[in-house]
This record gives sequence, C-alpha cells and structure tokens, in this order.
Amino acid sequence: MNHHTMSAVAATKDLVGVYQAGSQHMVGDGFPVRNMIPGAGVDEQLSPFLLLDYLGPEQFPPTNRRLGVGEHPHRGFETVTIMYHGKVAHRDSTGSGGVIGPGDVQWMTAASGIVHEELHEKEFAEQGGLLEGIQLWVNLPKAFKMSAPRYQTLVNDDIPTVDLGGGAGRLRVIAGEFRGIKGPAKTFSPVHLYDLRLKAGHHTELSLPEGFNSAIFVLHGQVAVNGSQAVKEAEIALFGQRGERVSLAATNDAIILVLSGEPISEPIARYGPFVMNTRDEIIQAVEDYQAGRMGHLS
Ligand code: MN
Repeated sequence: MNHHTMSAVAATKDLVGVYQAGSQHMVGDGFPVRNMIPGAGVDEQLSPFLLLDYLGPEQFPPTNRRLGVGEHPHRGFETVTIMYHGKVAHRDSTGSGGVIGPGDVQWMTAASGIVHEELHEKEFAEQGGLLEGIQLWVNLPKAFKMSAPRYQTLVNDDIPTVDLGGGAGRLRVIAGEFRGIKGPAKTFSPVHLYDLRLKAGHHTELSLPEGFNSAIFVLHGQVAVNGSQAVKEAEIALFGQRGERVSLAATNDAIILVLSGEPISEPIARYGPFVMNTRDEIIQAVEDYQAGRMGHLS
C-alpha cells in the first residue's frame, strides 16, 4: 500500500471508555433519570455537551396529577429534549409552549434566561403509559450566552431519515449532517446529533470529525464498537478526538444516540440550572432570576 492510498483511509477513533450511569434520581416528581453526563468518568471532556439524562423508560399509571418539574430557570446553554415514548408538555416565560411526543425533539435555547415548566402532557397522564426520553444540555459559546432565548420544535416529520442500506437500519439526523443529509436543528457551534436504529447482525460506519468530542449512548440493545468492545444498554461510550471512523455492529436491535461536537474551549462556571464562564456571572444569574428578570410563566 503506497502512502497515497493510506492517507485516503480515515483513521479509526479510539474508544476512550465505556461508562454506566453516575447516578439515578428523580427530576421533579415526574422524571426518573439515569445521569450519564457529567457522571462517572464523563465530564468536561465531552464539551459542548454538559449533561445527558436518560429518562425512563418507565410505565406511569393513569393520574389526574400534573407530574413533572414546575417553574424553574435556565441561563447560558440549550436544553434538548428527545422523546421516544410518551408526551411532555412545555411552557415558558417567552410565551412559547407545546407538546412533544415520540420522535419529536424540543431544542430550547435558554441563552440570557428563560423560566419554564416541563410536565407530563395532560391526556398522556390521564391515560397513563410508557415514558422514555433524553435531555441533553448543550453549552453556548461565551459570545451567545446572553443572546435572546429561542425555541425550536422539531417534530418527527421534520427530521430526515437516512436508510443505512442492506436492511441495516436507519439514522435520523437531528442536527448537523450525515452522508450529505442535513438535520433541521439550528446550533451555535458545530454539533452532529443522530438517532440511530441498527438491526441485530448488521453494522454501519460513522464518520465523526477529527477534533470533535464524540460519544454514543445506547438506549436499547448492544453494539460492538470498532470490531471489539461491547457497549450495552444504558451505557455511554466516549471516543478520542483523533481520527474520524467509528464502526458499530449490533448484536441485538439497537437504539443509539450519537453525539459529536466541536469543543468550546472556554472556562465553565456551573451552578444548578445556570452555566456561565465566571463565578460573577453565576451570581448575576441568581440575582436576575430572583429579581424576576428572566420572566415568569403567565
Ligand atoms: Mn428545564
């Protein structure tokens, strides 16, 4: 093999580690989550991704109560909610609101500040059912932390699906690009976010940019990564920045979230629902929230 041929073959990304949930807890009274980021072994090396909570899957009995998380603020980043089962209703201080169900994604840019509630949708709650989703927090570059909040509802039909070919499965492009197909989410730094469904006995290859931080989170099933290491249900696998190629082979039907983003190399000051660059900015965020400057729900 001459040098020319070798350089045409993208290098394989190293698998840095496979991690289980760092903790399991309730968010409000309606969202039982397993926390993957920041968690056992996965922290700021996955910038721009700040948090990944795996919600459920959990079967809820019928109720007339409004389970979930009541009015609370966010500043300095984006919350991305991806639904697999069940329905969640959202309402915020900008007057936006809506319901997301299976296949839908809510991409909320809190930026300078938003106050919102996240609840089980009323009819879903009354009927009861299976709830499963992911909430991801994506950091904002310093230049955008105090920009105006915005809200993108990406319904199932807006998210393009790429057939992997040969019966291997399909990949939905939520953000970024896969094999030339672009996802609908507008982001403030380069991010690829895919919902991958890989059939048992099949494999596929991803090309994730060199220099980006990348991971896969397996919701269901099991995959062998780069021909060897197994990643099981509710585990997150973290890749090194070098190389581009990741090969995945499903040993069972697998549902996988693929995350890849350009690192935001800026200081992080973090306190609960606020993620800024300095401690002074955190103090300001708390003051602004307490003074009502992030608004209220009407
Ligand atoms: Mn929230």
